[in-house]
Amino acid sequence: MTTILRTWDLTKVYDEKEIVRSVNMEIQQGEIYGFLGPNGAGKTTVMKMITNLVKPTAGEIEFFGDKMTHRSYEMLKRMGSIIEYPVFYDKLSARENLALHGEYMGYYDVQAMEEALELVKLSAVDKKPVKQFSLGMKQRLGIARAVMTKPELLILDEPINGLDPLGIKELREVFRMLSREYGMTLLISSHILGEIEQIADTIGVIREGVLVEQLAMDTIRNQNTQYI
Ligand code: ATP
Repeated sequence: MTTILRTWDLTKVYDEKEIVRSVNMEIQQGEIYGFLGPNGAGKTTVMKMITNLVKPTAGEIEFFGDKMTHRSYEMLKRMGSIIEYPVFYDKLSARENLALHGEYMGYYDVQAMEEALELVKLSAVDKKPVKQFSLGMKQRLGIARAVMTKPELLILDEPINGLDPLGIKELREVFRMLSREYGMTLLISSHILGEIEQIADTIGVIREGVLVEQLAMDTIRNQNTQYI
């Protein structure tokens, strides 16, 4: 097994308070890592440090064995993420949104765009402007946008939040496809174990900024432990 991402004593202090405290996280290539914790536990802050949106107060992040102190564009391109709620041009269709984003980012590629739309089951939704999309469709479009460059690690902050049961089911299928067909590694946060236990290979539990558990899902199932 190859470790794709590892954090060493990752720490973030805000207003003299340790929001994230010495987190040592280890994510294996190809797995779905469920990052669990109640609201305010520090999940988003950890993800923001990994994706370079926030500077760690202390600690290190290693991606494919390379320290991420000096993050190159190439390194960050290998990581896709949706940390904040994805924003689109409401009057444009899914395809138009992706094309515009691709052009703006300088990697417009029709085939990659069509593959991404197919993957999230939005290729048939042709004319509909995004303002008519359900929350689940918007989440899937956000994922399509994030995977157009075929990142090796995809980081999603609470993607299931607010979705109805059908939306959750559709999104889980997308996660499975990304993992099985594309071999992508996924880091997905949630505050409800039940939302991701069916798909996660490993669960990391964070509470008050401390990673209190990091266990294979099989072990959790056998122990029948309630973490959250
Ligand atoms: P949620 O699901 O509610 O977003 P979370 O586990 O993702 O929870 P974070 O968003 O990482 O938690 O927030 C952890 C704590 O850090 C919270 O108490 C939050 O108020 C605080 N926090 C986050 N960002 C900042 C900031 N920029 N300045 C000060 N405090 C912050």
